[in-house]
Amino acid sequence: QSIDTLDLVVLVVLLLASVAYFTKGTYWAVPKDPYAASTLNGSALKKGTRNILEKMDESGKNCVVFYGSQTGTAEDYASRLAKEGSSRFGLKTMTADLEEFDYENLDQFPDDKIAFFVMATYGEGEPTDNAVEFWEFINSDPPSFSESSDEKPLANLKYVAFGLGNNTYEHYNSMVRNLDKILSNLGAKRIGTPGEGDDGAGTMEEDFLAWKEPMWTALQEDMGLEEREASYEPSFSVEEKEEMSKDDPNVYLGEPNKNHLEGSQKGPFNASNPYIAPIAESKELFTVKDRNCVHIEVDVSGSNINYTTGDHIAIWPTNAGLEVDRFIKTFGLDEKRHNVISVKGLDPTAKVPFPTPTTYDAAVRYHMEICAPVSRQFMDTLAEFAPSEDAKKEMKKMGTDPDYFKEKIVNQYYNIAQAVTSVHPGPWSAVPFSCLIEGLNKIQVRYYSISSSSLVQPKKISITAVVESIRVPGAGHVVKGVTTNYLLALKQKQNGDEDPSPHGLTYEITGPRNKYDGIHVPVHVRHSNFKLPSDPSKPVIMVGPGSGVAPFRGFIQERAEQARRGDNVGETVLFYGCRKKSEDWLYKEEWESYKSALGDKLTIFNAFSREDAKQKHYVQHDVEANGKLVNDLLLKKANFYVCGDAAHMAREVNDVIAQVIEKERSVPKEKAEQIVKSMRSSGVYQEDVW
Ligand code: FAD
Repeated sequence: QSIDTLDLVVLVVLLLASVAYFTKGTYWAVPKDPYAASTLNGSALKKGTRNILEKMDESGKNCVVFYGSQTGTAEDYASRLAKEGSSRFGLKTMTADLEEFDYENLDQFPDDKIAFFVMATYGEGEPTDNAVEFWEFINSDPPSFSESSDEKPLANLKYVAFGLGNNTYEHYNSMVRNLDKILSNLGAKRIGTPGEGDDGAGTMEEDFLAWKEPMWTALQEDMGLEEREASYEPSFSVEEKEEMSKDDPNVYLGEPNKNHLEGSQKGPFNASNPYIAPIAESKELFTVKDRNCVHIEVDVSGSNINYTTGDHIAIWPTNAGLEVDRFIKTFGLDEKRHNVISVKGLDPTAKVPFPTPTTYDAAVRYHMEICAPVSRQFMDTLAEFAPSEDAKKEMKKMGTDPDYFKEKIVNQYYNIAQAVTSVHPGPWSAVPFSCLIEGLNKIQVRYYSISSSSLVQPKKISITAVVESIRVPGAGHVVKGVTTNYLLALKQKQNGDEDPSPHGLTYEITGPRNKYDGIHVPVHVRHSNFKLPSDPSKPVIMVGPGSGVAPFRGFIQERAEQARRGDNVGETVLFYGCRKKSEDWLYKEEWESYKSALGDKLTIFNAFSREDAKQKHYVQHDVEANGKLVNDLLLKKANFYVCGDAAHMAREVNDVIAQVIEKERSVPKEKAEQIVKSMRSSGVYQEDVW
């Protein structure tokens, strides 16, 4: 009997589907490392194994530092641990993205090796995107390890754990806490105590430094490691390519990956691959001179990017020219800034954090976080390259004395170039460029809560961003947020404003090889769970002062549109707050048009904190004063949303809601707090805070 075409098609589809299933997507998955295709040493080009033990054997490693990282911070801490383990204790280290390996054979992890877990906790106690699969596996009951079915299958595994969290969230550092419990229940042996870094208290770096010393001592004892005088050992080689010029077509001048270098923009657009989007429109929202809030409309119609109301858009920033120049000059790179360099990992597991060949200028401008707060450990590392003996001593002192470092550097809000020049004017030409690549973070995208509705404008994404500008008391300089000042410059340029380089910062607005000309910005969209109820007739309560109103502009725009289309839209209550009516009232006129569509379904309470010199009035006060309304709506199954400042406002709103429930329902305090907790866990109470 012959097979007809349809059968054949079905067979081929089935075959492909099985290959897809059994290879877990290895063959068609988009490479996660944005630069995988462009690293010259080729290590990233080889399709890696998903077997961590094989990988460690193959590359002669006895220490793996796994990381669960969302924004790149945990990944950076992982790299630092790997580097220190190697230079101080002679461990053969590698870092590993949790997503890139399978864990069935963790029960065969040899006891003369060590696994570190550096785990960020994301949102409401969730794993980071790259840790989801590992988390599901290790939480399964019991995890299906390949060999051992013992009660204690991980008896051979020794591990070290450090968590990155934020104490303003309820599930503070829950990833590392839970992982530690799970691993020890499975029989694994922890070395040292699990570390917990707190971003909420702003002590992440010091928490990390304080945790790691006793951990290293414990590890040294356990593994019989000998400490040696740690001097800097590069992980990358940086070779100047005299035969190449920056105008060669294969030299990266800031292009994020190969597609962009070759001049094509191909989706999917994601954390490894931005879309260079035109800015359709931009404007200033504040009416005061000394503060800015920009509204930007990003046009994604030329891409396959989709979003739904409540999602986040990531902006890929560019460093300000002023800071790039300062950095280049400080480290003695001025004369060779446009020389072409090729950067390679000296070890097959070392990933170069940007595509090469490139130039010093492009690497600094587009890929390195040169303006961020300085790491104390990095000051210590740089000491050996100081331009004088006195400077070396001073750097050592800063590296080892936290109080001194705080006084001299942290309290001054210095970035790395400012910090080292405060010790010695330089140039610090002896610092190897590889050391700067390793010691500074890869520049991070910044997220913004989309402030438009996808129902109203599916291909145009609005951003509402307050421009960060902090005058440091006593230090005589102003700290400028990297991304928001870049957005401000784009807005100035687009509108032909007098000062296209705000505050003298200057930006390479037209991007590498003028590819961003005509006002473009690199972006991608990240989907979030911060969503309106699918049934529009459900009431919603939103609390969003300042730029926290961003997603609620989108929510209200959406509900107004639903009302216009004849849907039955439920009560829509917004608690908004800003300083003064005449200064920073966001979208003041626009709310009127939503009111005309939603009628008495829309209620907005405005809290102006600086209208009355005697008494500051905040959103929390309005929520409390309108406790009856809030409680009535909650009883009518309203969703409750909070967006904006995590450290103070969101926390206080949480407490106020508990007080409202306590009062209005006449229940004891503990019961009211319990109700708020269960609202959170059932998704009725949602936060989008930063
Ligand atoms: P950065 O350069 O990142 O600086 C930020 C802050 O770090 C500075 O203000 C300063 O306090 C500190 N800092 C910087 N350098 C130093 C230094 N050398 N020493 C000491 N301290 C320093 N923001 C909005 O305006 N609107 C939104 O809708 C919005 N939505 C968000 C949604 C999410 C999910 C998240 C996570 C954040 C959101 N943000 C939003 C915040 C936004 O992502 C950025 O963090 C913010 O705009 C600042 O970015 P920046 O690059 O301008 O500042």
